[in-house]
Amino acid sequence: MINKRLEQILNKVKKHGYSLTPQRYEIIKILAESKNHPSAVDVYSKVKSVYPMISLNTIYKNIAMLLEINEVREIKSFQSAVRYDGDISPHAHIICRNCKEIIDLQVYDDSNDEMTEIYINPKLKKEYNITGYNVEFFGLCNNCKNKTSN
Ligand SMILES: [Zn+2]
Ligand SMILES: [Zn+2]
Repeated sequence: MINKRLEQILNKVKKHGYSLTPQRYEIIKILAESKNHPSAVDVYSKVKSVYPMISLNTIYKNIAMLLEINEVREIKSFQSAVRYDGDISPHAHIICRNCKEIIDLQVYDDSNDEMTEIYINPKLKKEYNITGYNVEFFGLCNNCKNKTSN
């Protein structure tokens, strides 16, 4: 069964007139299915196991195309590599300062229309046309926390 998110991205890519090469399909599939917010190099190593001739440059070009059509989101919180998120729905991230693990965090609960973690002044919320958010929490994951305390 084809992943719903993958299908959404593929439709958008086709709508914008980009051809769907097998390599491009593979790159999009990885981004649509990854939950760990991979870097371009992470995507590259995965695609390489299927298409050994692919270049890192091809990965970057395809990611740039996906950024342009707003189907992938950049996470640029580190001096190190930029990470990518194939999930463009509103959500926040919690990032481990040590191992750079990125976990999705739901800050807005649609079911009861309440902010669960982020408070926005109701007056501001009414006056301002808020179209999205980009929130990052930092800390140490359980693994790293235990390592550093020893
Ligand atoms: Zn960690
Ligand atoms: Zn995410």
